[in-house]
Amino acid sequence: MSKGLNILFCTSEVTPYSKTGGLADVSNSLPQELNAAGHPVRIITPKYGTLDERRLRIYEIKRLTNIEVPVGDKIAICNIKSSFIVSPKGKAQVFLIENEEYFGKSSPYVDQKTGKDYPDNDERFIFFNRAVVQVLGLLGWQPDVIHCNDWQTGLIPAYLKTIYAKDPLFHNVKSIFTIHNLAFQGIFPHTSFLKSGLPENIYNEEGVEYYDKFSMLKAGLVYSDAITTVSENYSKEIATTHEYGMGFEGLLKKRKKDLYGILNGVDYSVWNPERDSLLPFRYTSKELPLKRENKKALCKHFNLEFNAETPVIGIISRLSDQKGFDLIKNAIPEMMKENIQFVLLGSGDKTYQKFFEGVKKKYTQKVGVHFGFSEELAHLIEAGSDMFLMPSKYEPCGLNQMYSLKYGTIPIVRATGGLADTITEYKNGKGNGFLFNKYEPAEMMKAIKRALKLYSNREEWIKLIRQAMAYDFSWEVSAKKYIDLYRSIMKKG
Ligand code: ADP
Repeated sequence: MSKGLNILFCTSEVTPYSKTGGLADVSNSLPQELNAAGHPVRIITPKYGTLDERRLRIYEIKRLTNIEVPVGDKIAICNIKSSFIVSPKGKAQVFLIENEEYFGKSSPYVDQKTGKDYPDNDERFIFFNRAVVQVLGLLGWQPDVIHCNDWQTGLIPAYLKTIYAKDPLFHNVKSIFTIHNLAFQGIFPHTSFLKSGLPENIYNEEGVEYYDKFSMLKAGLVYSDAITTVSENYSKEIATTHEYGMGFEGLLKKRKKDLYGILNGVDYSVWNPERDSLLPFRYTSKELPLKRENKKALCKHFNLEFNAETPVIGIISRLSDQKGFDLIKNAIPEMMKENIQFVLLGSGDKTYQKFFEGVKKKYTQKVGVHFGFSEELAHLIEAGSDMFLMPSKYEPCGLNQMYSLKYGTIPIVRATGGLADTITEYKNGKGNGFLFNKYEPAEMMKAIKRALKLYSNREEWIKLIRQAMAYDFSWEVSAKKYIDLYRSIMKKG
């Protein structure tokens, strides 16, 4: 067997230390899968706010304290702490970067009071990127591949190809950059670029400049040895149209031979109704009455009356335009005419929050809402709902539709990005969900109505549930694709 690769996985969020979305789940489970396949992985991430260091077993590393990291004219001090992610797959070491000024607040990117990005996000992530490269020299461990994720790590490939290019430590180190969401582009003024310490001669169209601004996403896209994104369909979409490429379609087209779509997997040690410790009732596809008990618990949680004939449609999501909330907003009067109950767990855009508060007031008997972040409630919604609605405008991969399948909660999704790669219309006894194409409320309603019609046929519905639960999106296949890709870029000069 060939020797395992050393991989450094750089990410701005990873469970259980931080989470705003799917990236945190991926950053936890992919490294463990790589480790299980014989490749030593270390994760490096900011340590936000005040974590319970005892519970999470976070320890200081004496020799990795008071490290000086230049950020513009300042010298920022960084401490590295160590922890381990442990699961049935094995364990992976996590290095947490600590700096009170930049990461003292517990929310990763957005000021919870104002709902706006932190004004110093440029410095916060320039610091993080520079610290990663700087710290590597002190670890006594050389990665073969540095795996970067989203704009918050976009400068790392640029540092490797410029100011650290002659450093023997990085001589054979390759980088890959994974796009989890192209809408977040890390765009800042030229003054922010100056704080990065990158050479002025890359501030141009071929380099990190993007319409007279500095884009940290672009840095990752230009300087990494390979680019990946989290589904095959999205990899095609973003290199084809402006709608999906969001201004980067030209660059992505240019780098098409280095662009790969690798579907995210699911960590079934966390998202599996058979052993989900957060559920009141665990169940398999042969124990569906127990799923119904979870539905009762879910209805109780939201103060809704349980009725076996009334399907519960669930949503767990960031409240943002991306997730199709304007469609739902327009379709609510139509939806409420149907025999359904609707439960929503979400955080984000305050205007959507206000809107759904209004919906709850108007349709008290049919609607339940919970604003905020709750891992426990997310699991209960997956288990207790009958259907899961995900009408995204665009969706790089999407995890919840895959989680839903495992819980026998039938996805109703728009056929875009990873949703189109994982969900197929249930027809003639085949398929696992309901889809619509055009981004229009009426189209979404048609898909919902097809689901409701089938729901009233108990026998068929149970058949569909069992079929959905049998789908397997575990990480193994995708992790192997990453490993093949790491090896192929290592071969490049
Ligand atoms: P994205 O990363 O675009 O937000 P994904 O579907 O890839 O969407 O991943 C979302 C992840 O975040 C899932 O694990 C989902 O359960 C979780 N999530 C989203 N909103 C909440 C919330 N309010 N409370 C708990 N978990 C949430």
